[in-house]
Amino acid sequence: MRIDVFSVFPELITDFASVSILGKAQRSGLLDVRAHDLRSETSDRHRTIDAPPFGGGAGMVLMPEPVFAAVEAVQPPRPLFLLSPSGKTFNQDHAQALAQLDGFSLLCGRYEGVDERIAAELCDGAFSIGDYVLSGGEVAALVIIEAAARLVPGVMGNDESAGDESFATGLLEYPHFTRPADFRGSAVPDVLRSGDHGRVDRWRHAQALARTIERRPDLIRSRGGLGTEDRKVLDEFGMDYPRDGC
Ligand code: SAM
Repeated sequence: MRIDVFSVFPELITDFASVSILGKAQRSGLLDVRAHDLRSETSDRHRTIDAPPFGGGAGMVLMPEPVFAAVEAVQPPRPLFLLSPSGKTFNQDHAQALAQLDGFSLLCGRYEGVDERIAAELCDGAFSIGDYVLSGGEVAALVIIEAAARLVPGVMGNDESAGDESFATGLLEYPHFTRPADFRGSAVPDVLRSGDHGRVDRWRHAQALARTIERRPDLIRSRGGLGTEDRKVLDEFGMDYPRDGC
């Protein structure tokens, strides 16, 4: 998978993508992250890419000429997504969809953002990573790159591990425990040490349900509420849940 990123600070992208799981994926040829400087096609002494907004107001706006030129010089893989607080909120379904592609590209804004013609005529869509404002799109781009690239077959050590992670089945993930069995008086649930794999699976499902009911009832609602099997497994482990839906 090839991912091209356009930024005023391309080194933020290349540095992050050169270590850990992304770095390993790049070295093994599964991933190719290319970061491009938005100033690359400027010709003036100051390598200007921004200007004050028409109509007045605070801050500077990225101009269309240098941004279009930087993208057109590279002809990056499409779709090209703008990072913007006004974009669609990025989620695991988007990550899954991007992971199916051979490549895609990301354009990082800065300052007050980008001239609207960049959003409307150069980009194919826009993603936000949440309802807050960052100073630039680079961290948002890295979130998207990491979320999508780890779902590309072979990138994660164990391909199966993506299957039961949070959101993959519409639920938050169950809690994990490791050694020691007793830590400062807090013991690992007996079921996990019972050797009864069927019961472990049911306990984990019940935990995932209970955690999602408590923390993200919206996810339970989007999967159509609690089914008969869900209620059965919650009852088996004596877990409380709203009888009249979430
Ligand atoms: N004036 C803009 C607004 O109110 O929507 C905010 C601009 S922000 C300071 C500068 C850049 O950071 C944006 O152009 C965008 O690329 C990036 N950015 C900020 N918050 C973001 C978010 N939640 N998701 C994705 N990108 C974001």
